[in-house]
Amino acid sequence: MRDTSFLATGPSLLELVRRANGLQPRDARAWVLHPGMSFGSRATWWSKGGARPTPHEGIDLCFYRDQQGGAHRLRGGAAVPALREGVIVGVIPDFLGRSMIVQHAVLDREGDALCTIYAHTLPAAGVQVGTRVAQGEVAAFVAEVGPKGSGAGPHLHFTVALVPEELDCQRLDWAQIASPEGVTLIDPRPLVGPVEAMSEKAWTGWMD
Ligand SMILES: [Zn+2]
Repeated sequence: MRDTSFLATGPSLLELVRRANGLQPRDARAWVLHPGMSFGSRATWWSKGGARPTPHEGIDLCFYRDQQGGAHRLRGGAAVPALREGVIVGVIPDFLGRSMIVQHAVLDREGDALCTIYAHTLPAAGVQVGTRVAQGEVAAFVAEVGPKGSGAGPHLHFTVALVPEELDCQRLDWAQIASPEGVTLIDPRPLVGPVEAMSEKAWTGWMD
């Protein structure tokens, strides 16, 4: 078992997203996950019946429910906080925007660097490689993406990765992150806060 315990020592990503966006607990009680949003999934959730080319490298956060059960969508422009304090070691392109790579000041027992990655975003003003971010500090904003129907729409992809010393964190790209050799990907689900599952069947209508 690899050591990612540092990440568990604080608020969930949902709680930090609420704070960063001025929401109360009653406004966002839980994320709603389609099966294709989960870590390791081979399914897509933005098109009917498609498959991902590689197992999902993280978790997709897009929809959430309020206390009354009302459904909401994370908008383009929503603030994205760092889960824990760290240093921005990469701002790399992805297919919907930029990915912010935050390295935390923790090495696991095997000497791997612990990183969290916030994809499909745009960096906040003044945030660049070398910027130090505090827990909960807004590092980026969810990228506004294309017209409706062209794909998933705005969402936050969140990855937790252990990066071996021989791979320089400052030179990481998505091909390396997704490659089974080298980087070890961790299921981020325990860190994102309460999650409510949604079946494929119930999903129909949500994307319209
Ligand atoms: Zn994703």
